[in-house]
Amino acid sequence: MSPTGWPEAIEVTLPDEGSVERVLPFGLGRTITGKVVAEANGEPVPGAIVDIGPVGDHTTTAAADGTFTLDDWMGGANGAIRCEAPGFASASVRPGDAHEVTISLRRGVRIRGRLVAMDGAALVGAHVAAVGTDDNESSARRASIARAVSDEQGRFELADLSGESAHRLVVAARGYGRMDRALAATGKDVDLGDLTLNAPRAIAGRLVAEDQLGDLTSESFFLHTLWHEMSHGLGPGKIDVDGRVTEVRLELKEHYSTLEEAKADAMGEWTILTMHAAGRDYFPAAIVRQQATTYLAGLFRSVRFGIGEAHGAANAIQFNYLVEKGVITQDPHDGRFRIDIARFPAAIEDLVRDICLLQAVGDYAGTGAFIARYSTMPPLLADALARLDGIPVDIEPVFTQYPD
Ligand SMILES: [Zn+2]
Repeated sequence: MSPTGWPEAIEVTLPDEGSVERVLPFGLGRTITGKVVAEANGEPVPGAIVDIGPVGDHTTTAAADGTFTLDDWMGGANGAIRCEAPGFASASVRPGDAHEVTISLRRGVRIRGRLVAMDGAALVGAHVAAVGTDDNESSARRASIARAVSDEQGRFELADLSGESAHRLVVAARGYGRMDRALAATGKDVDLGDLTLNAPRAIAGRLVAEDQLGDLTSESFFLHTLWHEMSHGLGPGKIDVDGRVTEVRLELKEHYSTLEEAKADAMGEWTILTMHAAGRDYFPAAIVRQQATTYLAGLFRSVRFGIGEAHGAANAIQFNYLVEKGVITQDPHDGRFRIDIARFPAAIEDLVRDICLLQAVGDYAGTGAFIARYSTMPPLLADALARLDGIPVDIEPVFTQYPD
């Protein structure tokens, strides 16, 4: 039985010679009509974009009276129709068996603020994003995402976000560290005031091969963080184990967080590389090199959180997995590490597959074995971290009120 929500795969065994013929059955799509209205006053929302989600190219636009027609709807019981319009938070509905739907849009909220360096200077051209997910049972899962670049005064504004979602705010600026902040749902516009970014750190300068240092970019770091957070909403969630409906989280117990953080990291890279390989024109031509190298530096950064903690352990897993595959190697002369750009995409895909298969079948014992095998601190890694002496770990909370 396939895990809940996954499409059935069709297996084809190719002969050594000749060809093989298989008939792929496609059901008939149906036409769905509907209307997009503002929740506050029931007024139509002309120009709203209505589509069937990331798969396929079925997009339509609501007419002057808010109505739309969507052809070839193939979604099953859980399939959702998405809708977005300027000034509103994106929404989605599950039509189920219906032929007609009404989509009510709530006014979107804005998050604004200003980015400054420690000396108070405005940070211009920094990348800022807010990522949130509403994950309740009654509505379809919907992402609330906005992205901006800070202006001449360091100001940014993120619009059309859901007021019902908590968001994670991610900021990355060239030459600076990353800022990552949890924002509770407020239901109204938020002004965060001045946000100060820390001085640049020098991890990569000590550990990454000199000829690869030029490929480190804040854009790649930002993209990876963005897609890490997005990836938490992708992959197996509700699963079926021997006919029992359950969740990956419940089956993997104390191993869940570590495996899930490793998944989000690996799947984040995989998604970027896959979109690039598919010819999407979102990224610079050097994206594979830049993602791989920035990812390598990021592993050293995050493994310093300690392998007793989910994010640190997840980074040790990725490091050791890629060392085992020969994709990360150390130069015996200067002790610096290099990532094999050509083999990076395939190795990341292998890692995503290994992790998602453990999650998809809720394999507690297998996950324990996987973590025991890869979440270790081999001398290679311990030596590398020792060379970062004097560079602060990003966040090290010290709780004085409740000393252990
Ligand atoms: Zn995470």
